[in-house]
Amino acid sequence: MASQEKSKVILVPCDNYDEENIYLAMRKGIAMLGGLESMMAPDQKILVKPNFLLAADPDKATTTHPSVIKGMLRILQEDGYAKVSFGDSPGHGSCEGVVNKIGIKDESNWFGAKRANMEEEVTVSYPEGKTCRTFHFSKGIAEADAIINLCKMKTHALERITGAVKNVYGFICGYRKAAGHVKYPDATVFARMLADMHNATNIPLHIMDGVVAMEGNGPSSGTPIAMNVLLFSKDPVAIDTVFSHMIYLDPQVVPTCVEGQAYGVGTCDINNIEVLMAPAEDAAEQVLTPDQLREQFGKPNFDVERKVKKKNALSLITMVIPTASKRPYVQKDLCIKCGICVDHCPVEGKAINFKKGKGKPPVYDYKKCIRCYCCLEMCPRHAIKVKGGLH
Ligand code: SF4
Ligand code: SF4
Repeated sequence: MASQEKSKVILVPCDNYDEENIYLAMRKGIAMLGGLESMMAPDQKILVKPNFLLAADPDKATTTHPSVIKGMLRILQEDGYAKVSFGDSPGHGSCEGVVNKIGIKDESNWFGAKRANMEEEVTVSYPEGKTCRTFHFSKGIAEADAIINLCKMKTHALERITGAVKNVYGFICGYRKAAGHVKYPDATVFARMLADMHNATNIPLHIMDGVVAMEGNGPSSGTPIAMNVLLFSKDPVAIDTVFSHMIYLDPQVVPTCVEGQAYGVGTCDINNIEVLMAPAEDAAEQVLTPDQLREQFGKPNFDVERKVKKKNALSLITMVIPTASKRPYVQKDLCIKCGICVDHCPVEGKAINFKKGKGKPPVYDYKKCIRCYCCLEMCPRHAIKVKGGLH
């Protein structure tokens, strides 16, 4: 493929969340991608969509860092975008709760933007969808002309990683997210639904917060790890592929990369991606080859599931019958019996419950469990595990 046909990913090295530093890094990254004006018009309604999975301290790396959100809102204001809002529909709790927890409650942090309406639901029809033709979006999403995807670099129980492609699941309003896990329980089918969602919406800019990422038991119970980068692209699959490459994870085992490419959302071939590193002062910008990307920013020991799942009879069975996938279990000594896992189990009648009373850890009904791993995702104490890893 000729160089000009490649998807472009801008990499800006950045090793701290100092607000001015992040703002300048974001200015640089967006300029190298052609500037905001090349992606969206100033009179459009712009929605800035961070990852607000749940209310957690910013240093836990669960959410997009507030400095990145503020940097984006400041740039939009300075560049004359007057109809800006921001928000996400969290997996647990409310958008307002996350905003408060990460320290941007005061409107002086919003640079003239409004908090989007992520509580009301709007049904959006997408007849061209191959896997999903109706979405129950939050009103803030449905009303936006263009969305800026401020995703977080993290591991993910179901999809191995969560980045730009997966972050759009927060478009779905509140409790509807649970129903989506029931309808699309397998990682591949879920990724196809996400790809349809990308094609159904206008997201001209994706920015990945990888200054401090999350490894291990993501997306909420993992360990923060410095990756020291901000990534910028118009192609969400390419940005996730660059993340995968940095952590020595084959994008061919990442369903959101594979299905994202299959659905025409972007490319998951690292050789079809031009990675352009922002220059240090007085230096020229530099194209990084895949090898150079790993040499300078790679983490071979990043804790992520890299095992290749063989396409054998069992893997086909688990696609059709998710209950054949690995079982989650509760590590009793870590459990505080908060019930968040029970609340988030999307299965009618609950596949995890306090059958032995609220004084004891909840127990699974594996016949009902569809292996969506929402319980694992939402457990605040890292108490839910899967034997031998997920894949
Ligand atoms: S397993 Fe986790 S989410 Fe469930 S009750 Fe125990 S601590 Fe709470
Ligand atoms: S028990 Fe956990 S993995 Fe099983 S269906 Fe409920 S939330 Fe999903």
